[in-house]
Amino acid sequence: NTAVDRFFVTADELRGQLPKRPKFSHKGTFGHALLLAGSKGKMGAAVLATQACLCGGAGLVTTRVPAAGYDILQISAPEAMCLTDPDTDCITELPDLAPYDAVGIGPGLGQHDDTRMVLRQLLETAQVPLVLDADALNLLGAYPDLQNLLPPNSLLTPHPKEFERLVGEPARDDYHRLDQLRDFAGRTRCYCVLKGAYTALAAPDGTLYFNSTGNPGMATGGSGDVLTGLLLALRAHRHLSPLTAALLGLHAHGRAGDLALPHTGHAGLLASDIVRFIGPALEELM
Ligand code: AMP
Ligand code: MG
Repeated sequence: NTAVDRFFVTADELRGQLPKRPKFSHKGTFGHALLLAGSKGKMGAAVLATQACLCGGAGLVTTRVPAAGYDILQISAPEAMCLTDPDTDCITELPDLAPYDAVGIGPGLGQHDDTRMVLRQLLETAQVPLVLDADALNLLGAYPDLQNLLPPNSLLTPHPKEFERLVGEPARDDYHRLDQLRDFAGRTRCYCVLKGAYTALAAPDGTLYFNSTGNPGMATGGSGDVLTGLLLALRAHRHLSPLTAALLGLHAHGRAGDLALPHTGHAGLLASDIVRFIGPALEELM
């Protein structure tokens, strides 16, 4: 079998895939994203993911946070709507999903038992695309039976440590890890990312895609939360396939980091700088 099953994805492949905004579009055209994120001490992750989702072009963004996160989120992301959980410190109840076109869960979430029940209920009931990151992945690793509930075409974004928890077995080397990534995507029928330099994406059919953008300045707290928000915006978009949304998001995230770099230097690059350049990075692909 000589069919190509791995691709190095550059801007040339992606240019034109993000539909131009029609003159008469309105915010309903671009989808309403719901993000479940944050817990006490980790509200910044919810803020960064929310901001990234807004800059990623979602028509509307609603973020559900623990009650203690209300002011933090409203002040730092005034363009987003905020739903508060009855619990002060973590998310314990799943809101009604009917209004939303995609749901993201994980950044700063924590791993409280009640939060795990919210994740379970989301996996059991969601009828729209899901993006899972961070503590949502750690919960899937700690409770592997939850993995059987993953709706096909969900998008998971682990870094190597989260991926190891997810599959429950350390990789022998980088090649073995990529085999594990394919197996995982095939078994769950999901799209699974492996973050790092040259982030990989495995599709349910076993094809591997490698991202070409990004720089080591992005190895900094919060940059993964920005990716989650951006991917959520693209999954809420009504005219993008799961694969195209994922590849566009990975590319634009890295490219935003590359565009920020001349302004910040490697050491000074913060996750919020990546957010600022998401718009220009996406514009380049139009
Ligand atoms: P997280 O560990 O969840 O904060 O995610 C880190 C994010 O930064 C991922 O999107 C990585 O792909 C990106 N990143 C981290 N290190 C590098 C690197 N050396 N080169 C390019 N991107 C990186
Ligand atoms: Mg992360």
